[in-house]
Amino acid sequence: MAEALVESHNLVKIYKAADLEVVALQGLDLRVPRGEMLALVGPSGAGKSTLLNILGGLDAPSAGRCEVAGVDLTRLSSRDRLLYRRRIVGHVWQQTSRNLLNDLSLLDNVTTPMLLAGYPASKRRKRAQMLLERVGLGPRMSYRPERLSGGEQQRGALA
Ligand code: ADP
Repeated sequence: MAEALVESHNLVKIYKAADLEVVALQGLDLRVPRGEMLALVGPSGAGKSTLLNILGGLDAPSAGRCEVAGVDLTRLSSRDRLLYRRRIVGHVWQQTSRNLLNDLSLLDNVTTPMLLAGYPASKRRKRAQMLLERVGLGPRMSYRPERLSGGEQQRGALA
């Protein structure tokens, strides 16, 4: 069996608001091998965003086990969760305006996370250019997000 990149066992997420509890995930078992492409399908309110928020390191599970790339998401401190988001996982939002920083060019949008991750200054620009070329945005590098289409912004977010 291929190595699992994402694995959860009995994953539970409960939202608490005042005296109300909503069980958004009630014991989810999931196994996604490395390299697999997966679409998550279900009715509104089924818990898709909840799961993606947990896998993306934006929210913490309430109980159960969840590992991504060998990182145990049930035990992360907030600092480790931040490093996990910086180094391991990425989101591309459907709402395109959430993906990029509006005041920065596309190139600067791609180099900024490298700066935060301590990537050497001499290599940042070259790597960002390579990544933007790979997603077909070489000619748009100096543009700000407002001058890009929704799809271009999402491809910029991938880079
Ligand atoms: P989906 O993405 O499949 O539409 P969600 O994961 O957004 O579903 O929501 C799953 C359930 O959890 C829903 O009943 C929703 O109302 C509830 N829920 C989601 N986020 C919160 C929150 N921040 N506080 C309280 N309840 C929430």
